[in-house]
Amino acid sequence: MHKQRFNVLKMEFELKPRGPLLVKSGTISPNPSLPDMQFVRTRTPEGEKVFIPGSSLKGVFRSFTEKVLRTMDKDLACDPFKKNGEDRACGQKLKDEENAAKIYKESCHACKIYGNTRLRGRLSFTDFMPQGEVITETRYGVAISRLTNAVAFGPFDMEVILAGTFTGHLILENFETWQVGIIGLTLRAMEEGLVRVGFGKNRGFGEVTMPPVRVTVEMAKPSPIPPQEIWGVGMFMKETDTASYGFHEEYRITGLPEGKEEDLGIYVRREYTGEEWSAMAEKAIACLGNLRGGKKP
Ligand SMILES: [Zn+2]
Repeated sequence: MHKQRFNVLKMEFELKPRGPLLVKSGTISPNPSLPDMQFVRTRTPEGEKVFIPGSSLKGVFRSFTEKVLRTMDKDLACDPFKKNGEDRACGQKLKDEENAAKIYKESCHACKIYGNTRLRGRLSFTDFMPQGEVITETRYGVAISRLTNAVAFGPFDMEVILAGTFTGHLILENFETWQVGIIGLTLRAMEEGLVRVGFGKNRGFGEVTMPPVRVTVEMAKPSPIPPQEIWGVGMFMKETDTASYGFHEEYRITGLPEGKEEDLGIYVRREYTGEEWSAMAEKAIACLGNLRGGKKP
C-alpha cells in the first residue's frame, strides 16, 4: 500500500517545555567542562544546537499508545518480551509472512501505526529544532540506594532546558480514522502533563506543551470528498482490499470544520487551525470506541 498515497495528515507544532527538560545525548563528551548528562545536540549551519530528536517523540507517543490500547483490550498492543519461550512481538510472529496486506492485518494496533520489523510505520516525526534563544541550566542529582539510603551514584550534573520554542512536525500516511484518534488522545494527555518527554520523569522533568499550529490533510480525489469529511484509507480502496488489510469499518470522519481547501490536481488539501484541530480530534477520538474487544467491529 505504501506504493500509493491515499491520504496524509501533517501537523506542525510549537513545543515548549513547562519545566526542566532533558533529552540525553547518547554519547559522553570528552570535554570535562560540560555536564555529565548533556542535552542532545546537532550541527547546523549556525553552529551546534540542542534539539529534540523526532525518534524521542515517536518513542514517547508509542509507549502512551500501547498503554491506551492495552487498557481497551490487552491484545491491541503486542508485547516485545517472550513468554514461555514464545515470541509475542508482531515482527517476530510474522517473520515468515510475505503478503503485505496480511502483515498489516495480523499486526497489533500499535504496530499498525508505528511499525515493526516486518511493517513500515505510518507515523513519523521530524526533529524539533530550536527557534530563537533556549535557556539552559545545570541541575545536580544523586541516586539514592533503597537498601542503604546512602548515595549509590553521583553526584552528577544534568543539563536541562527551562525555556525555549522548538518547531517540527509529524506525518501520518495512509491512515485509518482511529489512528488520527490515537494522535488526538496522545496530544491531549501531553497537554495534561500525563505524557512526558525525555529523562527524569520521576524528578518532574519532561513536561511540555505541544499545540499544533497548523494541520493539513491531503486526500486523493477520485471522487469529490464532502468538505466536512476526512476519509480514512479504507475509502480509497476496493472492498476486497479493505477486507484483506482488515481496516476498521469506520472509514470516514464526518461533521468536521470545513478548513481552507486547495486543489492540488490529484489531491485535495485542507488546512485547519489549531482550534479546528481540537474539534477534529474529538470526532477522531470517538472512532477509537470500536477497537475494543476484537479486531473487527
Ligand atoms: Zn505489535
